[in-house]
Amino acid sequence: METMYAIVKTEPKIGAEYKTCPMPNVSEDEVLVKVKSTSFCGSDLHLYNWDAWSSNRVKIPRIMGHELAGEVVDAGKRVHSVQVGDYVSTESHIYCGSCYTCRHGRTEICQNLKILGFDRDGVFAQYVSLPENVVWKNDKTIPKEWASIQEPLGNAIDTVLVEEVAGKTVLVTGCGPVGILSVGVAKVSGATTIYATDINEYRLDLALKMGADFILNPEKVNVFEYIMDKTAGAGVDVLLEVSGNVSAFADGLKSLTPGGRVSLLGIFKEQNVPLSLNENIVLKGVKLYGITGRKIFSTWYKSTRLLSSGILNLDPVITHKFQMKEFDKAVKLMSDGMCGKILLLPPE
Ligand code: NAD
Ligand code: ZN
Repeated sequence: METMYAIVKTEPKIGAEYKTCPMPNVSEDEVLVKVKSTSFCGSDLHLYNWDAWSSNRVKIPRIMGHELAGEVVDAGKRVHSVQVGDYVSTESHIYCGSCYTCRHGRTEICQNLKILGFDRDGVFAQYVSLPENVVWKNDKTIPKEWASIQEPLGNAIDTVLVEEVAGKTVLVTGCGPVGILSVGVAKVSGATTIYATDINEYRLDLALKMGADFILNPEKVNVFEYIMDKTAGAGVDVLLEVSGNVSAFADGLKSLTPGGRVSLLGIFKEQNVPLSLNENIVLKGVKLYGITGRKIFSTWYKSTRLLSSGILNLDPVITHKFQMKEFDKAVKLMSDGMCGKILLLPPE
């Protein structure tokens, strides 16, 4: 039997193994992709740490990972839209296409959603099989390093562009990988002034490189007072919450102008987030969007255009590149917050 190398969650405890596994099976409506580049996501760290969310969801053994660029090397006989030789990435939200939500065009929140690298084997491997309906054909001009981070870029695109930002002031709370991507998208979409907050100076510096005008550490600066001063008491037009931190969210809501817009992508550890809905939302006439995943595939078209046009430069976001077998280095850097996006490359 042919085998390949992969990063596998093998045991119900903290950790993962780089080991040989059987090659994936490819059914009639799937393609086999030779992996060229992958990237590490915060949710991969949740699975590595075997936290409550992943231990309730994931059946082991499971090949991890869901962000990739690669080449199609085999296709099932019912596959028509992609062919051998195509340069591809993938949507990680595998939707059913037939539930109530899917039939309303909201496939990213499908009621039978399966997530790649959690509910089926993922991309931290030399090869992965993917359903045809989630495969995205990449523009050949986009480098594989950028193509593999289109999935989190799509989170940022929907967070920023659910309403327009041109000519507006924007506050991004949290400068993790998705936060700095959001700063970049807001910048190239015409936001006039971008404030970015984080308690991590390394990541604030990345936000600056992606186009933030003002970087603020809430442990050192009163974010609300700073923004009120800069905006002559008006507050920011748009709040993009990408930290999942309650006090960052509270700072953001306070600093938002009445009638402003909030995009909420960050996932809070707390089941209950204590804040006054009357004061912060209702009486301020705030518009609040929950953002999950990416629009399949309208967001991918936007991502392709932003990258192939050269308008958006992702180089500052990619801070580290390792071989897949060195994934422990990625785990350490992500745990310490000392990174932007980390690429993991499979053996040739
Ligand atoms: P991350 O954890 O790397 O980034 C969060 C950042 O928030 C960190 O840099 C952290 O230092 C910062 N932070 C912590 N306390 C803060 C405070 N008081 N003020 C400002 N910043 C603070 O995560 P990420 O990968 O960039 O993702 C961002 C968030 O979005 C996470 O909560 C993640 O779970 C969530 N997420 C949601 C979706 C979705 O589909 N809804 C998709 C991807 C990520
Ligand atoms: Zn569905």
